[in-house]
Amino acid sequence: MNKPFKQHLIDPEVCIRCYTCEMTCPEQAIEHDDNNVVVNADLCNFCMDCIPVCPTGSIDEWRVVKDAHSLEEQYSWDELPPQEDIAGPAGDADLDALDEAMAALLADAHQGAGGKAKAPATAAKPTINLHNLGKPVEAVVQGNYRLTDSDGNVDVRHIILDFQGHPMPVLEGQSVGIIPPGTDAEGKPRLPRLYSISSPRDGERSGYNNVSLTVKREEHGVCSNFVCDLEKGDTVKITGPFGATFLLPDDPEARIMMICTGTGSAPMRAFTMRRQRTVGAKNGGMTMYFGARSPKDLPYHGPLKKVPESLLKQHLVFSRVEGEPKEYVQDRMLTDQPAIADMLKDPKCYIYICGLRGMEEGVNSAFSTIASDMGTDWLSLRDTMREEGRYHVETY
Ligand code: NAP
Repeated sequence: MNKPFKQHLIDPEVCIRCYTCEMTCPEQAIEHDDNNVVVNADLCNFCMDCIPVCPTGSIDEWRVVKDAHSLEEQYSWDELPPQEDIAGPAGDADLDALDEAMAALLADAHQGAGGKAKAPATAAKPTINLHNLGKPVEAVVQGNYRLTDSDGNVDVRHIILDFQGHPMPVLEGQSVGIIPPGTDAEGKPRLPRLYSISSPRDGERSGYNNVSLTVKREEHGVCSNFVCDLEKGDTVKITGPFGATFLLPDDPEARIMMICTGTGSAPMRAFTMRRQRTVGAKNGGMTMYFGARSPKDLPYHGPLKKVPESLLKQHLVFSRVEGEPKEYVQDRMLTDQPAIADMLKDPKCYIYICGLRGMEEGVNSAFSTIASDMGTDWLSLRDTMREEGRYHVETY
């Protein structure tokens, strides 16, 4: 009889197919087909290098099995199988030892604010992976607008895509993949790059089958330059939608706290527009801490000024304004400590963090200080909120 062991798996419902884990794994144990990203149990050595780089936590799945799920099985899954009931004491001691070793490795990998998330209990059920790598949907570019000052170095674009009647049911907080044309250095078709949808579920224009994306031109970036150079009428191959946890609760009284940097504001725009279109005066409110180098580098700076404070309290913070001290989102969180403490006490408070990976540490530390002054341990509060679908991180 085979001894039970822990198999490393990827949750196909939560995975956004960014392929970062596959590019990170030193053992080449992670691979993909048109449908899913999977782990080869024969090659995975539990080094955990893939855990911290995953923006969604879909990588952090384990099942105790006697026989490993094959690659073919994993490729066919739409969702993970439940934990089987592994009967009998065979191998239990080994499993416990492995559990301890894995727990220590995972604890290291989990440092920072990321980790496995749950969707809010009231969130709408998302559609996932409707258009996969093998059968992407073609969208037509309806518009490409520069969001940042044309004299600055930062070129961020608002791209509007129309799906021409093809189904593309999205929820705020989900992402889509854009497949850049051409082949990579090995002559293989390029993999899609993931972008968060910055429009609400009923369309960039309400009732239209279109979505918007917020894309920053990166020096030497294959996909970002392709996207930023798109013109009206061009067509693009799209995969998705992806993401099943970074979603809004369907509760107008929920209090939404959004912390973002740069183009990490994309899902926050979608959340704000969704609320603007659906909730009335009786709402739990939204507060945003949004960091950019300067006002001219802050995506949506102009439109944000028109959003009323009754809907969205805005803290726009800047790190490189001449003559002013450098300020990061975590600095403003500490300045706004009483308001954050009030939100943390509220069981209807939902936290969303999106943007640069580097912000996680500072944001986590600001939360720790605020929670500690409230007499609360931040890590246990964070884990409770995560378990309740009220704490969400998507950083790259
Ligand atoms: P950016 O312009 O490089 O930075 C935005 C602001 O964050 C700047 O003021 C920057 O300050 C500050 N910052 C730098 N390090 C920080 C830290 N450790 N803590 C707090 N603030 C910090 O941002 P970006 O290039 O737009 O990057 C956005 C990130 O969001 C990317 O990693 C992207 O992959 C990710 N993202 C994008 C999307 C999308 O749909 N496009 C969706 C989700 C996530 P200084 O530069 O002055 O240090």
